[in-house]
Amino acid sequence: MTDTVVVVGGGQAGLAAGYFLRRAGLRFVVLDAQDEPGGAWRRGWDSLRLFSPAEHNPLPGWWMPRQDGEPFPTADHVAAYLRDYEKRYDLPVRRPVRVHGVRDAGPRLAVDTDHGTWHASFVVSATGTWESPVTPAVPGAAEFAGEQLHTVDYRSPERFRGRRVVVVGGGNSAAQILAEVSTVATTTWVTRRPPRFMPDDVDGRVLFDVATRRDAARRAGTDAESVSALGDIVMVPSVREARDRGVLHARPMFDRLTRDGVAWDDTDPDGAGEGSTQPCDVIVWCTGFRPTLDHLAPLELPLRRGVPKTAGTRSVDEPRLHLLGYGDWTGPASATLIGASRTAKPAVADIAERLRTE
Ligand SMILES: Cc1cc2nc3c(=O)[nH]c(=O)nc-3n(C[C@H](O)[C@H](O)[C@H](O)COP(=O)(O)OP(=O)(O)OC[C@H]3O[C@@H](n4cnc5c(N)ncnc54)[C@H](O)[C@@H]3O)c2cc1C
Repeated sequence: MTDTVVVVGGGQAGLAAGYFLRRAGLRFVVLDAQDEPGGAWRRGWDSLRLFSPAEHNPLPGWWMPRQDGEPFPTADHVAAYLRDYEKRYDLPVRRPVRVHGVRDAGPRLAVDTDHGTWHASFVVSATGTWESPVTPAVPGAAEFAGEQLHTVDYRSPERFRGRRVVVVGGGNSAAQILAEVSTVATTTWVTRRPPRFMPDDVDGRVLFDVATRRDAARRAGTDAESVSALGDIVMVPSVREARDRGVLHARPMFDRLTRDGVAWDDTDPDGAGEGSTQPCDVIVWCTGFRPTLDHLAPLELPLRRGVPKTAGTRSVDEPRLHLLGYGDWTGPASATLIGASRTAKPAVADIAERLRTE
């Protein structure tokens, strides 16, 4: 099978690329491993919501409709928007098709999948991070007799009722999961460094504006505030409510797991006494994700801080490859809906320009 462009991944970043490829009149296909549209939004926990109202989260061309009764849309609503978006622009998404490898095949790139091989002049990789959860290696992990799960496995608090739960991580996933699990269970929050809460009035709108200003300043060679300077945790209503209940107190990261719980080796000024232990039934690892890039391994791209080197969205070492989404290394706020749109546009413009001139 031959297309001018193969997009790997049919979440928000892949669809944004599809919109601009359609508009540029290029032949392309989007290959997505999932059974249904929606990307990572189909996999989050039940209460997950956007950090800002629908109108602040557009993909190109068509604004996300508002959701009745929900100022900040639910994950289901976002997934439905992505499903309708595909239909509206008649995007050629093939699913479920899993890409196993992208390799150099002379004048073209070959994209090997569980449904055959595609050949393409350009590949856009938009595979997100949700399929690559990270759990740190901690001594004793195999001895722990309780249950361990990662953010990706978490849906809702009810099944933890009455249990003793340790939530690990200092980001938004940890804070939101802790907030709701603490309504039904005894919780302990553990973070590598003291949690950093954003001011109550900061939401996704502010974060995007800050990221945009920062990028403009970087281009101009000046300096501007970064999103991380505001903190790590957005004070969504459930987290504010947990703060009011007094549960947002974190202990330092433990040193090991025991059969019955977690244990600290040393005296620590932040509260874990020498040799202290915390018995628990469940550990929820909200310890993040890495970009899902295994399919690019055959290209043997040199890595910088664990990811391929990019200039904008284009791979420095394989100029027929663009990377969309993932995080700031492919553009400011590129893992958000509005950021996906803003990074897909120049990526497709670059592809169209090179097809015209080469
Ligand atoms: C608490 C929280 C709040 C958030 N709030 C917001 C917000 O307010 N606004 C916002 O915009 N974002 C928000 N996000 C981020 C958002 O959920 C994700 O970052 C986003 O879904 C990433 O989109 P993507 O298209 O890059 O990847 P994904 O949605 O993960 O899509 C990637 C697709 O590629 C597929 N895939 C992976 N590997 C392969 C392969 N080898 N072959 C074929 N297909 C493959 C996957 O199955 C998936 O369908 C939030 C996230 C969290 C955790």
